[in-house]
Amino acid sequence: MINKIEHIGIAVKNLEQSNELFSKLFGKNHYKVEKVESENVSTSFFMLGETKIELLEATSPDSAISKFIEKKGEGIHHIAYDVDDVYAEMKRLQDEGFELINKEPKKGADNKLICFLHPKSTNGILVELCQEIK
Ligand code: ZN
Repeated sequence: MINKIEHIGIAVKNLEQSNELFSKLFGKNHYKVEKVESENVSTSFFMLGETKIELLEATSPDSAISKFIEKKGEGIHHIAYDVDDVYAEMKRLQDEGFELINKEPKKGADNKLICFLHPKSTNGILVELCQEIK
């Protein structure tokens, strides 16, 4: 089951500048910065009630974030939904005909097991499923 929007991921060119910008926008600072080596990104997180905003900056030219910004510019990159059991949801959604980008869950930022659904199967939105690692 999909519980709620866990976070919205926003692709940015410069994490430091965007941290300042979003701190002003939200009236509070990010609570963490984390590098995800496997994805070649640096991330920061802001907590807004139950939902988080994740800023993503590429750390290498072949990062998915570099390619996204090249093609579309900065902006909303993905929407992440909280799930209790990422394996069960992956199976359910695959059976429903959605295209999974990764066939096995991987370790994402902020202590999560994650899986992405291809935007071509979700009306153009990159969807992330994430399950808290307990
Ligand atoms: Zn994310």
